[in-house]
Amino acid sequence: MSKSTTKLAFGSICAKEMKAELTTAPHILPIYATSSFAFEDIDEGIEIFKGNKKGHVYGRYGNPTMDTVAQKLANLESHGLDIPSKGIFFSSGMAAIHTLVISLLKAGDTILTQGNLYGGTTELFTKVLDPLGIKTQFIDLTQLVQVETVVKADPSIKLIYFETPSNPTLDCVDMEAITNIAEQHRLWTAADNTFCTPYLQQPFKYGVDYIIHSTTKFLNGHGNSIGGLLVGKDLEMMESLIWRNMKLTGTNGNPFDAWLTHNGLKTLHLRMNRHSANAQAIAEYLEKHPKIAKVNYNGLPSHRHHAIAKKQMSQFGAMLSFELKGGLNAGVEFMRRIKHCTLAPTLGDVDTLILHPASMSHINIPKEMRLKNGISDGLVRLSVGIEEVQDIIADLDQALSTK
Ligand SMILES: *Cc1c(COP(=O)(O)O)cnc(C)c1O
Repeated sequence: MSKSTTKLAFGSICAKEMKAELTTAPHILPIYATSSFAFEDIDEGIEIFKGNKKGHVYGRYGNPTMDTVAQKLANLESHGLDIPSKGIFFSSGMAAIHTLVISLLKAGDTILTQGNLYGGTTELFTKVLDPLGIKTQFIDLTQLVQVETVVKADPSIKLIYFETPSNPTLDCVDMEAITNIAEQHRLWTAADNTFCTPYLQQPFKYGVDYIIHSTTKFLNGHGNSIGGLLVGKDLEMMESLIWRNMKLTGTNGNPFDAWLTHNGLKTLHLRMNRHSANAQAIAEYLEKHPKIAKVNYNGLPSHRHHAIAKKQMSQFGAMLSFELKGGLNAGVEFMRRIKHCTLAPTLGDVDTLILHPASMSHINIPKEMRLKNGISDGLVRLSVGIEEVQDIIADLDQALSTK
């Protein structure tokens, strides 16, 4: 028993924190389940509060488990690039996006982005930020001449926000071209790199300022946590304004979800290799199938952005979509017959997930809006898993065959 507790009453010992006696360094990052951190003495407290010494204070400001996974991901985004970066772990991908945007923009400013963003991000921009005065302009970011014209015409644009490839048609934004325009007009750029992870694509290589991740997807990979990460190369901004806004709006993550993410990250490279190889084989199988009108996969030479994808991505990832001949009914019928793949509205897990947007995620979205973003009645989206590929193909094949 530690010296300070020997003379205490029973109840006081119950209430007092007991520290581990043997503190040999753990091999695996522990879950720091603590809401605050104790100072050695008053002098240490003063130095940490003044900002002269780095140290943890309170769990909402930071925590060793969260900070470790955040820095690991920042190191991966910067890998081989000689660009120092810093990461912050958030409660979700949405929390990371929200904190970034309110840190960079104020009322009267405009975000320039694409129409086919992740649905939650579109709603955050139009339903939460718009009433607060931060406006959004949606255009096709693959039309570079139009991007340049719009940016020149509207000085309120401060941030170009994009996803590449985007859901569900895998359209790609030419990051180098976009950051060139942004630099000329002194705009920030932010890329949502959730679909690729830094193993397949590093937006810093093309001059992007901020990188967003929903760690819920491929980074964790096992579908058992919600989390978000923001990585920035402006260390001053990351350590002051953005960190301050994270702690004041309480968009911080929690140690358990950070720990699960940290665990998942260890096999990221192996999983992404397998996801990509499986998806390529499935895309090639589907492209030859007589009941399929079209396959969207960045790894197919027939994809309209195959060349941009090839320039920016080392492999083409897990995401693909395909259009069934026969529209809505064919889509619903196909989904009824699926046996192995799981019907789930997420992506990035180790098992194959399948979604029919017209009857599932987009059922409440007006048809013309859905069609505008490439989500036709017969479109099916696959997040290809790491199973043995013949089992996934066999499942698709039996669901496509009509007896
Ligand atoms: C899931 C997702 C998000 C939102 O992340 P959450 O962790 O669910 O908040 C943002 N962008 C993309 C591309 C996503 O797939």
